[in-house]
Amino acid sequence: MEEDYVFKIVVIGDSAVGKTQLLGRFTRDEFFLDSKSTIGIEFQTRTVDIARRRVKAQIWDTAGQERYRAVTSAYYRGALGAMLVYDVTRRHTFEHAARWVDELRAHADKSIVVMLIGNKADLAGGRAVAADEAAAFAEEQGLFFSEASALSGENVERAFLRLLEEIHANVS
Ligand code: GDP
Repeated sequence: MEEDYVFKIVVIGDSAVGKTQLLGRFTRDEFFLDSKSTIGIEFQTRTVDIARRRVKAQIWDTAGQERYRAVTSAYYRGALGAMLVYDVTRRHTFEHAARWVDELRAHADKSIVVMLIGNKADLAGGRAVAADEAAAFAEEQGLFFSEASALSGENVERAFLRLLEEIHANVS
């Protein structure tokens, strides 16, 4: 069946926070132990029903470009949503989130909907960022927020669907 909407979503954040795994979890319900098997693939899609509409999420992965600070404005072009991911066990990846927000403000559409994701929530023992602190940062910056685990799948579906619902509410 034809979709009613195609929403481009970009996944951003520091290296190794789990961007590729989150994308794989949402689009294929898979977690790859060799996560870089998807390198070179620019985007993956999944079609879901949102408010009785068929919405195709076209989700872009940086494919490692963030390592070289080479995420270009073409990556952000046309994006209606962004998943800004940090790793709850590596504090600097959370501290860099402010830089990623600046990057979005500089390159993405003003109305882009952004969800901050604290990934690897399954590694609770190694936690270096409190959920409250991240929630406060998100509120201050006008971002939605969720912790999640690409490994266990916890909250991944819910976070992507929330983002798609918010985008849908903006465009309809
Ligand atoms: P990317 O560079 O941001 O795309 O990160 P990857 O998706 O390649 O993941 C980086 C590493 O973190 C890999 O070794 C993954 O197996 C691991 N990883 C990703 N998500 C999770 C998660 O939710 N929990 C745990 N424990 N490990 C994860």
